[in-house]
Parts: sequence; C-alpha cells; structure tokens
Amino acid sequence: MEIAKTVAALREQVDDWRGAGLSVALTPTMGGLHDGHLSLLGVARERADRVVATIFVNPAQFGEGEDLDAYPRDEAADAAMLGAAGCDLLFAPTVAEMYPAGFATEVRVRGLTQSLCGNRRPGHFDGVALVVTKLLNQARADIAVFGEKDWQQLVTIRRLARDLDIATEIASAPTMREDDGLALSSRNRYLDERQRRIAGHLNRMLALTASRIVAGNPAVIALAAARGRLIELGFDTVDYVEMRDAITLEPLKAWTPGTDARIFGAATVGRTRLIDNMTVG
Ligand code: AMP
Repeated sequence: MEIAKTVAALREQVDDWRGAGLSVALTPTMGGLHDGHLSLLGVARERADRVVATIFVNPAQFGEGEDLDAYPRDEAADAAMLGAAGCDLLFAPTVAEMYPAGFATEVRVRGLTQSLCGNRRPGHFDGVALVVTKLLNQARADIAVFGEKDWQQLVTIRRLARDLDIATEIASAPTMREDDGLALSSRNRYLDERQRRIAGHLNRMLALTASRIVAGNPAVIALAAARGRLIELGFDTVDYVEMRDAITLEPLKAWTPGTDARIFGAATVGRTRLIDNMTVG
C-alpha cells in the first residue's frame, strides 16, 4: 500500500489509475480503525478497481471541550490494517496540508444539520461538510463510501454532493456491530467495563422502541419511555431518541407501512457520547 501525505501525491496516483481506465473508490476516516471502517473498504473494493482510504482527524469538526486531543491516533497500526484489507493508497495529510495559512472557506448544509447531533454539537457538521468537500475534490474518485452508523452525516454528504455538483457517487455501508449490538466506534475504546455493558443497551432500546412503534404504540410515548429507560439503565445523559424521515430527517409523529423512517439515539456514558440509528419497520 502506498502512503500519500500531500494532495499532489494523492492526485498523481489517482490520475494515473484513471488514465489507465481504472475506477477509484474513496473511504474517508479519522483513523482509530475497526471492522466498521473495514466494511466500508469491502464495499469500496466491490465497487471499484482501486481503493483509497483517508485518515485525517479533522479539527474543524470537533467542538470546544470535545475529544480532539484524546482521539485515538495510531497511523502505523491503522496502515497495517488497511494494507491487510487490500487498500491501495492511504492518504494521511497533516492539518497544515488540509488547512494552510489563510484558509477562509466554510461549507454549510442547512436544514439537515440543524437537528439531532447538530443541536448538541454546534459547528460539527460544518466541519464535516468542509472536510468531505475537500476530500471529494482532492481525490476525484468515482465513488466514496460512508457508514450508515452516522446517518445524519451520510444524508448531509449526499445533499452537499448533489448541491455542489460533485461527480463522485456517494455510497453507504451498513453499521457493523459487536455481538450485543453496540455499533463499532473508535470512541468505544474510551469505555471501561461497566460503561461498555451500559453502552450495549442503546442499540437494543432503539430496536425495541422501533418494534413497539411498528406494533402500533404511539410513537411519542414509546420514544419518551426509551429516553427514561436509558437513564435507568445507566446512561448519564440522553441527548435524543427520535423517529425521523430517513432522507429529509423531518420529525415523524407516526409510522405507517411504507413510511421510510429511522429511529435515532444519542446518549452519553461517562465522557463517551454514543450514537446509533436503525430503520423502523
Ligand atoms: P470515523 O472514522 O468515525 O469518522 O468514521 C469513518 C467512516 O466510517 C464514516 O463513514 C462512518 O460512518 C463509518 N463507520 C464508523 N463506524 C462504523 C460502523 N460501526 N459500521 C459501519 N461504518 C462505520
């Protein structure tokens, strides 16, 4: 696996491949790799001839008091995992390469980013939109793969790619989970044993609540009950448990067969904030 540190080196390699008639897939990550990231790579490998992974802990998407400094960084271990998974090129730029002196541009996707995690993490999706726009422009890949675990991020990226006429197709990969259903996340390594047990309840509570709603229980009551129950189960705070339209993220008060709804949850245990989502019905 080649490693590119600069945009110029990334482009040179991608241009070579495309010149040779090969298709290219991009899988952006912040490192701290786990099997969820590798499943994105699997989709990328199925869909394209060459796979580029990126590792960049993007300061622009971390708010004040968040875990930018503590975020797991182990490029050697990540590179070994990527190489073993058949990645062809790792793009791992420095902050100065991504945000050189004088950098002044913002990217904001209105609407979609103003609810759910957008409420609790002001500016987070602006930082995501900015870095993803840059990565898509830098790599000029045929396809880019993002995880359904970060559903609000996925629909935001689909929106911005369409709005900004970015030619790269935005594809998604399903959420990879631990045996108890906990969505794999780089932040799970912050959890101690007790917190890890509590964390497993988030996915189960979302699944239970979705099935209650499908069974005809009023959504407002089922969602409120889930929020209360998560606290009883040991979460320190619950940011939200909500049902929303899967594409527009508009809040939904009721579910009927054919509704494209998802249930979204975010809760903290200790200093770790966990998010999850799944389809309803
Ligand atoms: P991150 O490194 O956390 O920014 O994630 C990079 C990409 O991996 C994003 O598209 C995430 O949605 C995706 N991802 C993270 N966790 C998982 C998971 N458990 N299953 C599938 N994709 C994931």
